[in-house]
Parts: sequence; structure tokens; C-alpha cells
Amino acid sequence: MSNILEIKGVNKTFGGLHALQDVNLQIEEGETHAIIGPNGAGKSTLLNCCIGRLIPDNGSVTFNGKNMIGMEAHDINHAGMVRVFQTPEIFPELTLLENVMIPALAKRDGTFKFNPFKSLLKETAIHEEAMATLADFNLDRFHDHHAGSMSRGDKRRLELAMGLIQHPTLLLLDEPTAGMARHDTNATIDLLKSGKMGEMTKVIIEHDMHVVFSLADRISVLARGHIIATGTPEEIKNDPKVKEAYLGE
Ligand code: ADP
Ligand code: MG
Repeated sequence: MSNILEIKGVNKTFGGLHALQDVNLQIEEGETHAIIGPNGAGKSTLLNCCIGRLIPDNGSVTFNGKNMIGMEAHDINHAGMVRVFQTPEIFPELTLLENVMIPALAKRDGTFKFNPFKSLLKETAIHEEAMATLADFNLDRFHDHHAGSMSRGDKRRLELAMGLIQHPTLLLLDEPTAGMARHDTNATIDLLKSGKMGEMTKVIIEHDMHVVFSLADRISVLARGHIIATGTPEEIKNDPKVKEAYLGE
């Protein structure tokens, strides 16, 4: 197995707070790797250091053999490392179809400027792909609805569709089921396990252990900025260090 992502010796401080302390983590091609840990452990900070939203104080983040530190967030995104955000980042005034077409057009052209007078529908190939992607997420029948009018679960699915259409080689998901009702959570688990999403290399930050144990090939546990354990779900379940970290929550 080769590593698609290698995080080595990453530290990140915010003022006096040491949010990440000498973090080392390898993500293997094809795996679904869950990062768990108590609130405030540094999980989102770690993802932000990978995608160029934050610059670590030191250490390296190597994606497909190339160091990402110092690269702009959109260049990292173009390189194939795509994050689906913790807070839905959709365009509420635009339709679902437009929402899915925009990241595809941005990827093709390197940039995207929305022009309300120019119909996106003229982009035939991307239009077709966007409709097919919406269908993968059972959202095609709502393609002309405004994204802002959709339910929370549908918005999260829309975000996944916006991620998928960029053909990522590594998908980073920050709490993909946060705030979802149980049936939506289960539907999301199924989506992440099957089809194109299923085959993709994924890093999932997740609080819900049902989701973690349904999806993860391996799990890393972050506590107070340290990776305290990495292993299979079975190994993590039985690790006394992990139990201890959660008792303090
Ligand atoms: P998690 O995602 O595991 O809940 P975070 O990565 O969001 O944790 O936060 C880790 C720690 O860093 C927390 O103590 C949080 O308050 C702090 N933190 C995160 N982002 C910032 C920031 N931009 N400025 C200052 N402190 C931050
Ligand atoms: Mg977080």
C-alpha cells in the first residue's frame, strides 16, 4: 500500500495554545481513515493544515509525493485534495444544479465568476455530469430548487455532490453527519460506502461512533493535539489510552 498523504512532525499553535503537537499520520491509498477525539482535540485544525487554510508552525504535509505547505488552498484543491466543510458551504440562492456545476467549472477553468446573465446550462458536458452527480445522491428531482430551501440532510448530500464532481483523489470530510437525524445519518453512511464515494480514499472526522465503526478501515485518535493511537477499529476499541482520553471529556 502506498501513502497518498503523509503528515510529519506538524505543530500548530494559536497564541499560547498548542493545538497540534508533533502530529504524524499516514493515509494509505484506498482506505477510509477516521480521525476521532474529544472536542477541541485539534481535528479541524489538522484538516485545515492539510488543505492550506492554516499553515503549520513546522512539519510537512506531503500529498501524492509533493509538499503542500505554503501552497494556496485552491491549488491544493486542484491537486485533488478536497475538503467537505463542517459548516455547509453552499450557495443558498442558487439551484442545486448550479451549486454542483460551479465547483466543476471552477476546476476546469481554474477560477469561476458567476454571471447571472449567462446560463450555466450552455455548459452541456458539465450540466450532464452535474445532473448525473445529483442523481447519485438522490437529489436530481430537486435540481431546480434553491439550495437554501433544502433540508439539513439534503444540504449535506449536496455538499458531498459538490465534492465528488471535483474528482478528488483524497476526500476530507469534517463531521459529515453532524446535526443529522438517524435515518439521514444511515443514508449518508450508505452513500459513503457505495459507488464512486466508496472507492475513494477518505479521511473522516466524526463524533458519532456508529458512523466511525460503519466506515473506517483504520482510526486515529487525537487528544489535546497528540495522536495517541492509530489502528484498526478493533485495536482502537480495546486501547486503554483511548478509553482514558474519552473519560476526561
Ligand atoms: P476539534 O475540531 O477537534 O474540535 P479544533 O481543531 O477546532 O478542535 O480546535 C483545537 C483547539 O484549537 C481548540 O482549543 C480551539 O479552541 C483552538 N482553535 C482552533 N482554531 C483556532 C483559531 N483560529 N484561533 C485560536 N484558537 C483556535
Ligand atoms: Mg472540529
